[in-house]
Amino acid sequence: MNQLNICSDIDGTVTRSDDWLDLINKSFDKSIASENHKIYDYHRLIGILRENYEAFYQKHKKEMFAKSSFRPMAKEVISEFYQNHRVHFVTAWDTDVEPVTIQWLMENFVDYDSISHLGSHNKVQRAFELDCDLFIEDRYENAWELSEAGFEVLLMNCPYNQGPIHYRTTRICHWNDILEIVREKEVKNTASYARVI
Ligand SMILES: [Mg+2]
Repeated sequence: MNQLNICSDIDGTVTRSDDWLDLINKSFDKSIASENHKIYDYHRLIGILRENYEAFYQKHKKEMFAKSSFRPMAKEVISEFYQNHRVHFVTAWDTDVEPVTIQWLMENFVDYDSISHLGSHNKVQRAFELDCDLFIEDRYENAWELSEAGFEVLLMNCPYNQGPIHYRTTRICHWNDILEIVREKEVKNTASYARVI
């Protein structure tokens, strides 16, 4: 079976998309429910200037990342992928939180082949470098850009990523959906390999 290069974003994709809402609600005196988290950028969601949110983020980001929690089945499915494929985490997070991320993954016994902290939302170049076969993502614009560049994307459904999707993007709701899609690819791969030999 051919190994796939499975790339995945972390926040909101591997982790729950509402992990940070409590802290944000408390800090900015808001009461935004997770189903009303309809705008990706927090400064726009809570109606403050980008630089004010950036100051908050810079102060709290390590604490926020360290307290992230997994989406249901994310850990189990990633663990299965790691047995047969290559798992690459590609996050927009800044490089200065890399030790926190690595520690968090280690403490939670998550195996992976590589991790990239890009410090920007532009993930297309890294997807090319990793020879990506499948990209799992929660940010709408990233999914669109990656699909436009030719990559197959699985978009984790969230209130903030609604809208029409690119034909190379599939909207999914659970890590079990991802598992099913990868298993279908494994069957196709095995069948085409069998035809070759
Ligand atoms: Mg994300």
